[in-house]
Amino acid sequence: MSVTVRFAPSPTGKIHIGNARTALFNWLFAQKNNGRFIQRFDDTDLVRSKQEYADSILYDLHWLGIFPDATDYQSRRFDRYNEAVEKLKAAGLLYPCYETTEELDLKRKIRLSRKLPPVYGREALKLTDEEKAHLEDEGRRPHWRFLLPNFADDPAETQRTDVTWNDVIRGEETVDLASLSDPVLVREDGTYLYTLPSVVDDIEYGVTHVIRGDDHVTNTGVQIALFRALGAEPPAFGHHNLLTSTTGEGLSKRSGALSISGLREDGIEAMAVASLAVLVGTSENIAAMESLDELAAHFDLASTSKSASKFDPAELVTLNRTLLHKMPYDEARERLSALTISGELAEPFWNAVRGNLDRLRDASTWWSIIRRGPAEPVDLNPEDLAFVREAFALLPEEPWDGSTWKAWTDRVKKQTGRKGRALFMPLRLALTGLASGPELADLLPLIGREGTLARQP
Ligand code: GLU
Repeated sequence: MSVTVRFAPSPTGKIHIGNARTALFNWLFAQKNNGRFIQRFDDTDLVRSKQEYADSILYDLHWLGIFPDATDYQSRRFDRYNEAVEKLKAAGLLYPCYETTEELDLKRKIRLSRKLPPVYGREALKLTDEEKAHLEDEGRRPHWRFLLPNFADDPAETQRTDVTWNDVIRGEETVDLASLSDPVLVREDGTYLYTLPSVVDDIEYGVTHVIRGDDHVTNTGVQIALFRALGAEPPAFGHHNLLTSTTGEGLSKRSGALSISGLREDGIEAMAVASLAVLVGTSENIAAMESLDELAAHFDLASTSKSASKFDPAELVTLNRTLLHKMPYDEARERLSALTISGELAEPFWNAVRGNLDRLRDASTWWSIIRRGPAEPVDLNPEDLAFVREAFALLPEEPWDGSTWKAWTDRVKKQTGRKGRALFMPLRLALTGLASGPELADLLPLIGREGTLARQP
């Protein structure tokens, strides 16, 4: 069967780098296996889900280089879930419960005090039709629980029931269904929790591999039971470690921390985000990959570590610098043009400055220095001032090229006896206003003789 994966965020906020990790794991896995990638929005929570978030997630995915083969929304598929509910009810696997949150809490405490596991005791299974009618007359509405297959004959007598799967990331995993409460699939108001819709969709889309964060490992035990209850073979599962901030907190869509759009606005390159999102927390070295194809060659689900992985945003800037340093002009051209960096100088300019940029937009600063001179008038001490003036008098005639700087400074060295830093630094300051930056040999022909003379202090 050909590989089908899906990325299934709820559109309740902007996706962050941890969500991008899940999306990219799925995308790269699909790419490597010639498979399909389904974009599914888990928007059963109609209040918190917003179309604008779904749109921004799609935008972020495209920016990262992910182009889903199909997109769907759970909110458009309630008919399918209703059918599954009828099927489960008919099989006696979905039963109505009427307890309030407070009552459940109390039951839990009682079980704990009796040294019983704090799971739901299935009291509602024993309700007679009259009792149910009575509760409904009181105005109560049922929520519906899935009867986990963790007993032999009597649901009140649970027994250890291991569900085992060979996790494509973590290896063999086991969940004991007797350690879990029967999960609520449908709320009092008839809305769905994520558990059932996800299984129904995975069945209908023929998902072969569910690759998601390891916060879902326990759900997998329940979902495997649900696949079977609905008459389907479960897919393969892979649970990757989660990313945490440097202080160890989890990332959250709601807090907006390290959102993909925030990183983009901050000038971080998509491949810097993708490289770090995929390679952190694996046995691979973190390095700047120039394309998703290159990243795919370094991607192996099995090399993902099992423990949470700290994520240092400062690494993004390091990767950014490397990517910009290697970026050919053709790739930068449009974005430079949007910064009004264009014309015949644009390409040699880019080649001169790209090795000195944290962010592509910083090229503007250098463009302005080259076209208009230092941002601030340079303040040289009297000795350096005299030196710079002497040096300017020795500027070679045009045409200028990459060898002009050497020819000029050789002449200056001979004439003034200055060398090393004492020679270069005052010239650098006079030409650029900054103590560091791209090679002056590359900048000088861009500034030109006229431009250089205009900077004479
Ligand atoms: N909506 C779920 C989440 O964002 C999807 C989990 C899954 O991939 O099944 O955590």
